Amino acid sequence: MPSTAPARLLLLWDIDHTLIETRGVGFAIYQRAFPAATGRPLVELAKVSGRTELDIMSETLRINGVEPTDEAVGRLAAALVQGYEDARDELGTRGRALPGAYDTLAELATSQAVFQTVLTGNLREVARIKLEVFGLDRFLDLEAGSYGNDHQERAELVAIAQQRASERTGAEFGNEATVLIGDTPNDVAAGLAAGVRVVGVATGKTDLEELRAAGATWAIDEIKAVTRLLLARLSTANPSSQQHADEE
Ligand SMILES: [Mg+2]
Repeated sequence: MPSTAPARLLLLWDIDHTLIETRGVGFAIYQRAFPAATGRPLVELAKVSGRTELDIMSETLRINGVEPTDEAVGRLAAALVQGYEDARDELGTRGRALPGAYDTLAELATSQAVFQTVLTGNLREVARIKLEVFGLDRFLDLEAGSYGNDHQERAELVAIAQQRASERTGAEFGNEATVLIGDTPNDVAAGLAAGVRVVGVATGKTDLEELRAAGATWAIDEIKAVTRLLLARLSTANPSSQQHADEE
């Protein structure tokens, strides 16, 4: 690992309603995976917005009358991953990348000062499939990401991603150098609890006012505004950094 890695900004992207929408495919997969894993129909799905999959799976099992043992959760997780694997075409047809997501990730990926990965409630393999289907995986270091099967609490995923990103790059990513980007009050709360800045994007069900009220450092209504926001910040964040000149 290099000991003099350049100062960098770690971007932690949420996936659903920030970068992509499954437009009902995610729910359809749950409806197929749940009986496959438990032998029972899915009567009710727990609220999913902004939560980790470990959290969603446990509650969904419970409210459908199945004890959420490690074994039951593991079976459901495996069925969900298989369900997404089988539904790649369906996801690509019915779902979509959100407007500007591809271009924004692509543009940020050209900056040496930016290191991009995900912080998502999705299971690791499900996250990979969702991003691959829309061609977004090429801009993100998914090994450095943190996922809904890493921890039940979303806020805990921030430190996990920082640690993994440091291991991947040799650079230290403290809270000052970390920005989380997401669409729900849960994303904002997770970032604030962990002590990092949060860009709230009103591309899901939460509007700008609600994102600001939740405490988002910045609230924007389209993903492409992220580039301007972050590159402007980079140009002033580390006056002593060699990256500074690159961003002028
Ligand atoms: Mg989301």
